[in-house]
Amino acid sequence: MNDFIEQLAVILVMVFAVVGLGFIRLSLRQKSSVERLKEVEDRARPRFQDDLHHAKASYRSWDGEKPITSHGTNSGIGNTTGHGATPRAPRLEPIHRVDARFSELDFLEFAVALYTWAHTLRPKRDFLSLSAFLSDIALDTFLSGMADLDSVQDIRVGGVRTLRVYADEHWASVEIEFKAVMVERVKDDFVRIFRTESWRFRRRSDVKSPSRDVLMSLGCPHCGSTAPVGETKECLDCGAQRAGAEHHWQVAAIGSMRRNPQPSPPVGLPLGPPGFAVPNAPDIAVKRMEWSDRYPDEPLSALQPLAEELLRQVTDRRGLLLPGMMGRRLRYEHELLSNAGVVRHVTVGPVEHRGEIDITRDATHEFVDLRMAAPVRVWVQDGKTVPPQEPPTCICEMTLARQLEGEERPWQVVDLRWVEMPKDEV
Ligand SMILES: [Zn+2]
Repeated sequence: MNDFIEQLAVILVMVFAVVGLGFIRLSLRQKSSVERLKEVEDRARPRFQDDLHHAKASYRSWDGEKPITSHGTNSGIGNTTGHGATPRAPRLEPIHRVDARFSELDFLEFAVALYTWAHTLRPKRDFLSLSAFLSDIALDTFLSGMADLDSVQDIRVGGVRTLRVYADEHWASVEIEFKAVMVERVKDDFVRIFRTESWRFRRRSDVKSPSRDVLMSLGCPHCGSTAPVGETKECLDCGAQRAGAEHHWQVAAIGSMRRNPQPSPPVGLPLGPPGFAVPNAPDIAVKRMEWSDRYPDEPLSALQPLAEELLRQVTDRRGLLLPGMMGRRLRYEHELLSNAGVVRHVTVGPVEHRGEIDITRDATHEFVDLRMAAPVRVWVQDGKTVPPQEPPTCICEMTLARQLEGEERPWQVVDLRWVEMPKDEV
């Protein structure tokens, strides 16, 4: 009998021990999963704070203390709004290879026109008109939310950057990132909204570019009519089908729609933080020779003073008056800065030239990519501070373009990128 009680006691102790251990293990596991969650949250937390909000009225400068040689990190000069380095926007040459009539600058202007037009139609939820250019999937994304939106006005596109480009014998596609500001009216409230969106354009590769006028009119790709699209997506004038990638550029999808009433001002270098240098075109020597054959009276070296002058224009207030993409980007930045009440000063020292990276042409323009080095000083101030001494030397890459035909063919800046370079190469 005693033996039985003893055995029972042992069994009970074991049962309690097992159950107890189970509880302990369970609570340990719960604790560790809480810890894991915290770890994940920590990792996902943005590593950069918007330092403008931390030090609204204080002085920050970019001088020799901050190295511009910070490969693989995000601490380079000008990179003070928490963005990573801006990768170089790819050029649209692959599309020109499948369509000899393709013009990069015309396409980008068309993209801006389409973007502006589509946003104007957004409050009306005009599915039919929009379906001439937007796929059903893109329309779904584009028109989601904001059911009580009354109007969208004062649309100003700031940045237009090519994210990806692809072309083979079947398809051509281009992904474009737009940065824009617009005023949205909901009932009697007017709200200024800053938007960042990426639009993926695609087209069958056997479709060729129409004339610039037809492209820019957003009209029928077959006859150029700007009449509205019919119920079955045909042109009301020529009767041909006009929606879809078999006829012209179609927006296949819209990704990463971000609305922000108050984005951070770009307090670093104009036109974004530095990326990495691009290698020279492998056939650059041949291209230089072709250039001197084509323009014996116009040596490439003659472009250098012009490029220097344009660099100075981009970095001072004259940049706001520049035409095309560059002026758009600078005016947008200026708006972000004045929106935040920040004054940004940029001075460029003597420019040292490093030559051409690439020389290309498409249906309408020829392009020259240049690299140059200059001491660049950037600071924002609140009125009681002095500029920093000893500015670091920055490398900049600039894409210049001019029309292939015409009497006056002035060069214009179509892109400018800051580049990080190892100190010993500067
Ligand atoms: Zn037509």
